[in-house]
Amino acid sequence: MTHYTESAALLERAKKVLAGGVSSEFRKYNHPHAIFYTHGKGSRIYDVDGNEYLDFTLSQGPLLLGHSHPEVLQAIHDYSEQGQLFAGQHHKEIELAEKLAGLIPSADLMRFCLDGSEAVQTAFRVARAKTGKTKFLRFEGHYHGWLDNVAWGLSTPSVEALGDREDPNVYPWSAGLAPNSRDEFIILPWNDLELVRKTVAEHHHELAAIITEPIMCNNGCILPQDGFLQGLRDLCDQYGMALIFDEVITGFRVSLKGAQDYFGITPDLSIFAKAIASGYPISAIVGKRAWMQLIEEAKVIHAGTMNASNPTIAAALATIQVLERDQPYERLYRFGQKLMTGLEQAAAETGQNLRVQGLGPMFHAGFTDQPPATDYRGTLGYNRVKLAKFIAGMHDRGVRVIGRGLWYISAAHTEEDIDHAIKTAREVLGSEE
Ligand code: PLP
Repeated sequence: MTHYTESAALLERAKKVLAGGVSSEFRKYNHPHAIFYTHGKGSRIYDVDGNEYLDFTLSQGPLLLGHSHPEVLQAIHDYSEQGQLFAGQHHKEIELAEKLAGLIPSADLMRFCLDGSEAVQTAFRVARAKTGKTKFLRFEGHYHGWLDNVAWGLSTPSVEALGDREDPNVYPWSAGLAPNSRDEFIILPWNDLELVRKTVAEHHHELAAIITEPIMCNNGCILPQDGFLQGLRDLCDQYGMALIFDEVITGFRVSLKGAQDYFGITPDLSIFAKAIASGYPISAIVGKRAWMQLIEEAKVIHAGTMNASNPTIAAALATIQVLERDQPYERLYRFGQKLMTGLEQAAAETGQNLRVQGLGPMFHAGFTDQPPATDYRGTLGYNRVKLAKFIAGMHDRGVRVIGRGLWYISAAHTEEDIDHAIKTAREVLGSEE
């Protein structure tokens, strides 16, 4: 029987000095509480109680190569021996930028930052400076980091609470948000091009940008409807707005060239983080020259003491090198889709209403009798209590999945791992009423 005694004791100790016992809000929501880990290797992670987990959280996405990839760790070690941070430029930083410019369709120019949240804000700054307009259009259920102007509309209790599709109610996710941060954006349900067209026609004079995840990965895992992303591209061209793709999850996971290549739609600006560097703190804002030149000319200021440190650049270069050499994408899709189908079959055999949606390298599995969701509103009817029980059952049997039902596949997962996850899911689903 899995027990969490040591983790529970450490959590009590941590709570005395770390607010809530953790360093990120999301880490509280593990089963049965925040867990303390000792190490990770390949597709596995181990906790202080000696439990071993087959890991589909991959640290919320970054570990595309699995835990502790030896080439990534070696590259970090080797390059860190030359120093950590120079408050100046270094050779490998250009190598990484050249590599990304060669891969990502929209990447004429870029800047490196530390995480997705700040890179998103840099994109807003560029869009405002270039267009002379102030607001951005965003979509319900899309997560763009935890900073004030995007920390709204992320915790809605029900569809009813969201209200009118054309003028949704928006709730703050946190106390203490700058009151005027609510004035910075217009929010709409996703995947409804007609509604976006209508809204943009009325508000384009104040809209500097449209920001979207190219695949909505933060609530469900929902693909864009045919023509939706192209429709956004056309509107941005027509009305002089920046199209911003938040590729923090999709970047390097959907393909080496991002979701923008997968869908064949080139945004003006985009954000890469998570999988770019196997868990090391680096992100990139990349974009077309016409937009990024505002940073080049120092009209838009972007800075950061810790940006592009040696270990993070080495981690990114090594990660991309391994991805280019090993080309794990065919496997990521095949294994992901096998797992999706396996979960669906296990649910059918056990009479459970598990709905599985996504692409393969990442997908969502949640409990609902409703048709596949096409937007955030469609995910709000999912049975969260049942999901929590399923995730807990998997965890107690050594399979770790993100609490909100998102599964990530890594290049370290084997076919046996996938079979094991399906077998475990069948056991858990079969044990539920
Ligand atoms: N954008 C998306 C799509 C994300 O999923 C996240 C984080 O999960 C962010 C932005 C924020 O990135 P970070 O947590 O690195 O600040």
